[in-house]
Amino acid sequence: MDPVFDAIVIGAGFAGAATAYHLSRLGEFRILILEREAQPGRHASGKNAALLRQAVSDAEVGAMVQETLRALEAPPEDWEQKNLFRRTGSVLLGENRVLSGFAGLLRKLGAAFELHDRNSFPEKLDAGFRAELRAAGYEALLFTSRDGVVDVAALLANYLDAARARGATLVCGAEARGVTREAEAWRVATGAGEFRARLVINAAGPWAGGLGVAAGLPDRGFAHFRRHLFLAAAAAPRLDRPYLWDTAHECYFRPDPQGLLLCAGDEEPHPAGEPAVDPRVEARLFEKLRAHFPALAPPEIRRAWACLRSFLPGSPFLIEAEAGAPGFLWVAGLGGHGMGSSFGAGRRAAERAVAFFDRQKS
Ligand SMILES: Cc1cc2nc3c(=O)[nH]c(=O)nc-3n(C[C@H](O)[C@H](O)[C@H](O)COP(=O)(O)OP(=O)(O)OC[C@H]3O[C@@H](n4cnc5c(N)ncnc54)[C@H](O)[C@@H]3O)c2cc1C
Repeated sequence: MDPVFDAIVIGAGFAGAATAYHLSRLGEFRILILEREAQPGRHASGKNAALLRQAVSDAEVGAMVQETLRALEAPPEDWEQKNLFRRTGSVLLGENRVLSGFAGLLRKLGAAFELHDRNSFPEKLDAGFRAELRAAGYEALLFTSRDGVVDVAALLANYLDAARARGATLVCGAEARGVTREAEAWRVATGAGEFRARLVINAAGPWAGGLGVAAGLPDRGFAHFRRHLFLAAAAAPRLDRPYLWDTAHECYFRPDPQGLLLCAGDEEPHPAGEPAVDPRVEARLFEKLRAHFPALAPPEIRRAWACLRSFLPGSPFLIEAEAGAPGFLWVAGLGGHGMGSSFGAGRRAAERAVAFFDRQKS
């Protein structure tokens, strides 16, 4: 039987949306995107901190971030929303050894940065920012001028809308419950019906591992960690101000149109799912701020939420075909940089998909 689709993408977060987007650019493929929720972006892809950070620890992920940054700065023709990146710059604080490591990678990637000790500051930082930093405890400061804040809803919509404009189908409220290999195709059973395709792309975020096991594949051993974000009130937030990330004490904050967004850098192991807010994390955030940013006025928290970051231990992202299961592609484990690297990650995944189709032809 001829499968109805060339590819079924499971999950419409950044992994699935960016992969479908690039695949639709690379050829005339019949693409189906299945999303369990009533709309895309209900989990980490819609709830993250929206930071594009070029300083990462892995070279390949760094290259994907560079590619995403270029797309955000000069949006492709097929993106409906073009004004979706606020270039603020970022200030990372930390140990000399750690920030020098980031700087080494940035140099290799050709990214602009400044590395400072406690006695000097990037020119962009105003007097108030410098005073906050003088009161903080840190060894070194890394300033990356092209970092910034992304309109994540617009980015996700751009990927999905452009893919749909080229013929991809998005079905929401369609949870993939069973993925089975049949003669020449994969059958995906959902509450909204059964679908077949030559290729199945597992981009189900924290649920990707379970979906693989349900499809009869070995357990990849993904680990998921809950992380909270807090939105505090702030009078007249300075939206052009660089975001601040303390890598030694793992906490960060940035101005937001609604106030100040803060994160205590918490990482509690958590099963795949939708985590509830743990009130103890807010107390931990206040402890960190008191200890490391004494010049910052205690924020008045208005809203808190939590979601999951998924990792494949020992490896950066999992963007590869499953050996021994022809036509099963993973795009999962995007950890804490899956939004800011999405354009590059999706392109790599789509190229692997095309390689699979090419192999089938030959
Ligand atoms: C608190 C927090 C802050 C973050 N901040 C940043 C940041 O500032 N910058 C950055 O680059 N990254 C950040 N990240 C990381 C980033 O959000 C993730 O790497 C990225 O969103 C992962 O995308 P995804 O598509 O893999 O997963 P998800 O966003 O979880 O998407 C997976 C989708 O698959 C769907 N799905 C699951 N199972 C099924 C099924 N069986 N059938 C159909 N659909 C299914 C889900 O409903 C979901 O919509 C942050 C993460 C967290 C938790």
